[in-house]
Amino acid sequence: MTKLRLAIAGFGKIATTRHVPAIAEVAGVELVAIADPVATSPDVPHFASLEKLLKDGPEIDAVTLCTPPQVRSAQALLALEARKHVMLEKPPGATVSEITPLLAAARAAKRTLFATWHSRFAPAVEPARELLASRKLKSATIIWKEDVRVWHPGQDWIFAAGGFGVFDPGINALSILTRILPRPVFVTGAELGFPANRAAPIVVDMEMADATGLPIKAEFDFRQTGPQTWDIRIDTDRGPLTLSSGGAKMSDGDTGVVDALKEEYPALYRRFVGLTSKGECDVDLAPLQIVADAFLLGRRRNVEAFEF
Ligand code: NAP
Repeated sequence: MTKLRLAIAGFGKIATTRHVPAIAEVAGVELVAIADPVATSPDVPHFASLEKLLKDGPEIDAVTLCTPPQVRSAQALLALEARKHVMLEKPPGATVSEITPLLAAARAAKRTLFATWHSRFAPAVEPARELLASRKLKSATIIWKEDVRVWHPGQDWIFAAGGFGVFDPGINALSILTRILPRPVFVTGAELGFPANRAAPIVVDMEMADATGLPIKAEFDFRQTGPQTWDIRIDTDRGPLTLSSGGAKMSDGDTGVVDALKEEYPALYRRFVGLTSKGECDVDLAPLQIVADAFLLGRRRNVEAFEF
């Protein structure tokens, strides 16, 4: 079997902890080079930028972008114009509109553009989608609270403009929500708390709905210390359905029905290899659109300054 020869641009936390082990596990893909201003790997050649990698590096078929979202679209365009398949870490970009030219470039080059949502590959997500399809839904509540100092230590880009702030993890919850609910959802109100010294929110309360008026609330907080919370509860005519631990577990009423290890990243690479074999794209912007709309509609308040 011919393997997809892959480069990673942005060799930081997620690339080293999740992508590298997943690539090693998936038969159809191999890591052959990395691009990062500073970080290197003992196993593959390093280039200080994606431009240099594409010019001087080994032959590649595909690039995974694990860089901060603010630099993604320029890199994706560069790679697609060089006729490489492109996999985007979430969120797919810093804006919604920058994705349209990327899709056009992918189609022109007959290459894959895969906007990943790793949380959708959590084990409880598809079972929840199937159960909810036959129920009458009453309400939904997302509580997504984590400690930014633990998960994003020193990552100043996350609080810069275009870095998403607490929407960086919050968009994972939205990626699950938009997958498991039977109808599209939209933002009806939001309050975004910005640290006085930062350009992205650290705490967000938002309300959403669907066309039937389903009330949906979400609480995102990046200041959570101690136990971390990644829960989604859907109240239905047959009792509550609860996804916890970011979609690793699911309870139907009081009964636990899913409790599995999260194997999200190998599944992402299997999907990417499958898409590239057919030159297909997989780009769903619904979670990104909701975040953009929260910025459009939300009220802004200042909260205490934040330092890592
Ligand atoms: P990170 O640790 O800051 O890694 C980003 C890497 O990209 C850094 O090594 C950075 O180098 C490098 N970089 C910046 N600009 C670059 C450029 N133009 N070309 C090549 N490399 C460049 O961030 P991360 O946590 O891995 O997050 C990256 C993305 O993955 C984010 O979109 C995030 O939402 C997503 N993600 C993160 C997690 C997580 O738990 N951390 C989980 C899932 C998804 P410098 O530091 O030298 O600038």
